[in-house]
Amino acid sequence: MKNETLLNIAKEFGSPVYVYNANKIEAQYKRLTSAFSKVKQLKINYAVKALSNISVLKLMKKLGAGLDTVSIQEVKLGLAAGFDVQNIIYTPNGVSIEEIEDVAKLGVQINIDNLSILEQFGTRHPNIPVCIRINPHVMAGGNTNISVGHIDSKFGISIHQIPHILRIVENTGMHINGIHMHTGSDILDIDVFLYASEILFETAKNFKNLEFIDFGSGFKVPYKEGDIETDIEEFGEKLTARFKAFCKNYGRELTLAFEPGKFLVSEAGYFLTKVNVVKQTTSTVFAQIDSGFNHLIRPMLYGSQHEIYNISNPKGKQRFYSVVGYICETDTFANNRRITEISEGDILAFKNAGAYCFTMASNYNSRYRPAEVLWHNEQAHLIRERETFDDILNNQIEIQL
Ligand SMILES: *Cc1c(COP(=O)(O)O)cnc(C)c1O
Repeated sequence: MKNETLLNIAKEFGSPVYVYNANKIEAQYKRLTSAFSKVKQLKINYAVKALSNISVLKLMKKLGAGLDTVSIQEVKLGLAAGFDVQNIIYTPNGVSIEEIEDVAKLGVQINIDNLSILEQFGTRHPNIPVCIRINPHVMAGGNTNISVGHIDSKFGISIHQIPHILRIVENTGMHINGIHMHTGSDILDIDVFLYASEILFETAKNFKNLEFIDFGSGFKVPYKEGDIETDIEEFGEKLTARFKAFCKNYGRELTLAFEPGKFLVSEAGYFLTKVNVVKQTTSTVFAQIDSGFNHLIRPMLYGSQHEIYNISNPKGKQRFYSVVGYICETDTFANNRRITEISEGDILAFKNAGAYCFTMASNYNSRYRPAEVLWHNEQAHLIRERETFDDILNNQIEIQL
């Protein structure tokens, strides 16, 4: 988005503020669907947890996406945004049987990722179709090696436990209509992903009544200069060929499903913050912004590097800065970053602020969560108001002491 547009948004709605570019979300959605255009039945279920604002969900619906949800609250958000239950899949991890039953009662496709729940659910509801989340134990090793790992990952049912799954299915008479994996690792090495897909195909052969195979996500987007991103086009071509061959052997056309979060929304997002203080110390120059890990925690949590640039002075000479927040704790967003000269009051923009940014925000230090704006049809639409002091007090109970 243009600096001028972003500056106007910061002026109109204040800072800090998240801005999402609907055009970019649409472009990413189209890139993915075109890469798989030769698949007869393709289903893109957007992973709600990446960015869950109801207006963003409505945009996804307009584009033709379904939803991938991890909690009953996300399911309800999807329903509130107007999605039909048939277009929502529920992929929880470690949630209670009661919540899973509640979601199933709504008519949403459920995905089970452990043997205990599979057995309980199959015993109580043999007629409700269930998808099974498999852990193929595949991850990219050094260079292009394929190595087997994540044996201790908490996600999915191990492929080594297929015989146990089959026994549960047979004993309960339950109906398995989908097979799923989401390794969480990045699809940088397409061959490693295809190798994992082969394991999924092998597993799928055990189930005669499948309707879909869900390959989860793992699409990588560039964060900083030099980052590689998944070659979606090559990946689409290769997986399509394999999927078609599988369906032919299986004897039926299945749906190929994905659950991208980051790929669809990461690059569409900008986080705009104002510089409160420029502080020169003996070793560095700090730019202290009106935010902290209460608003954007990825750099501190994952060591993520979000590109930061000064939209108030884009042509200034570059200097080195440490960009830090206002939280009473170490909250470094960036160290020794080259940024055009910063003055107090300047607006800094963070890139890749669409996925896992606002959704991870908190009220730490009793600060308000930021506003959110959707840039759609060349207009800025406020899609979440900045919190107010009422939100801080909300649900708190003052007792007589
Ligand atoms: C988080 C999640 C995704 C989305 O992952 P991205 O890396 O954002 O694409 C997909 N599927 C499941 C089950 C998830 O938990």
